[in-house]
Amino acid sequence: MSIRTRLLLVIIGLLALAFVGMSLFAGAQITAGLQVDYEQRLMSDIKLIAQGIAPAAAAFARDETDDQALAAAFAPYEAQTGASLRLYFTGNPIEQYSGDNTVRNPIPRPEPPEIDAVFTGQTLVNQRVEEDGTVYLFTAASVSSDGRAIGILQLGVPTSALQALIVQRWIVLVSGMIALTACAALLVGWISHRMLRSLRQLQDSAARLAKGELKHRIASPSSDEIGAVARAFNTMAERIQSMLEAQQTFASNTSHEFRTPLTTIQLRTEALKRSPALTQDVAARKYLDEIESEIARLTSMVQGFTLLARLDTDRMELGRDQVDIVRFASALRNQMLPQAEAKGITLSLTAPDRAIHIHVNLAHLTLVFRNLLDNALKYTPNGGSVRWSLLCEDQMMIHTLTDTGIGIAPEHLPHLFERFYRADRARLRDVPGSGLGLSIVAAIVQAYGGDIQVDSPGVNQGTTVTVRWRVQSPEPTLQR
Ligand code: ATP
Ligand code: MG
Repeated sequence: MSIRTRLLLVIIGLLALAFVGMSLFAGAQITAGLQVDYEQRLMSDIKLIAQGIAPAAAAFARDETDDQALAAAFAPYEAQTGASLRLYFTGNPIEQYSGDNTVRNPIPRPEPPEIDAVFTGQTLVNQRVEEDGTVYLFTAASVSSDGRAIGILQLGVPTSALQALIVQRWIVLVSGMIALTACAALLVGWISHRMLRSLRQLQDSAARLAKGELKHRIASPSSDEIGAVARAFNTMAERIQSMLEAQQTFASNTSHEFRTPLTTIQLRTEALKRSPALTQDVAARKYLDEIESEIARLTSMVQGFTLLARLDTDRMELGRDQVDIVRFASALRNQMLPQAEAKGITLSLTAPDRAIHIHVNLAHLTLVFRNLLDNALKYTPNGGSVRWSLLCEDQMMIHTLTDTGIGIAPEHLPHLFERFYRADRARLRDVPGSGLGLSIVAAIVQAYGGDIQVDSPGVNQGTTVTVRWRVQSPEPTLQR
């Protein structure tokens, strides 16, 4: 899991926890506040209603009006509050008025707390379950007219009204909390994205440096801690680049310096071989032959070094000669035939019967396939076979060189392109070679945008080398 995801999860989790805690606390406060408010409203409502219905109640008590008149006085208050009202007359006879019925019932005994409170001049709200199983809030107030007490007005309202109000507030609170958490998450995501962008940049730069882009630097590092790491990275890249450049210059100069003495030795050896004094001396001729072959080996190594040094410092010019690869392959095969025939190896070539043109430096192309054929012939015992097949598909030419030779153990395969690497040196004791060939081949193929792969099922099971090379190599881009 990435740092960003972990950071986001932790922060959002903490935020959500904080918001849930805050909401629970606020919700409890709101619920308690709502309950108190509601009860107070009921207590003030009952007093106002008691005053409102007092004239109608007084008229009813004096038998001046009937039930309908009293019901008409109650109706607007009941509609307004959603409560049910009951009026207990305290005169004689005791009557109870509830809705549009007048019943001759006394005040219930024992008196409910809200009615009891009225006798002591107080108002309170009492919650209890009625016979129908519904929870009600009750309150009561005295009804008086002209300074004379007429009765007690009782108001009952089911708690579901208050519950609905509380639920409504909770819904508002919870949706607010969800919206707030979402906003906070977005904000945290944006901030972490900005912060981690510099880290990602650092990661990209490290990957580019590892791939060999030594000139790459992190542009305008920030002034924070990540910026400090970026500046340290740039300094490190600077040091690595200058160290490698010094090393490459040294390698390049050394190989260049080797050339002149080698040429001189070669010329002198040729001269010595022609010298009449030495023509009869068998031992001297043998030594001169050996010296000559070692010079040839050294010269080819020095050429390899020079080429690798150029490739390392991007100083190798990619050629633009137009070469017909089919003709080239056939010519090279013919050149290599004597070497193959000397070991009784059949060297075959399968290629399309049309011209395939590529743009390349002919010397580079020769170096690549000569090295590969040389390996195939070198590492195939007498009487074996080497097959070179060339096919072209989707603007890509694919060369496959398969031999029936000594093969390569799997553990060596990943190292073959390393400089001076020779697989299983003990086995190759009698086979000349320095282990540079494949590293040069790979460097050239890659410089032209192609790729190379060496496969072998195992020791003594032959080897297959595959080279993929773009037919239409890209035109050099114009620099502004
Ligand atoms: P050089 O090419 O510099 O003269 P070399 O042939 O030993 O020396 P490379 O061409 O780089 O070096 O090859 C590296 C190693 O890969 C070889 O030493 C050999 O062990 C192995 N190798 C390459 N081609 C083959 C092949 N066709 N069959 C078996 N082993 C091979
Ligand atoms: Mg080789």
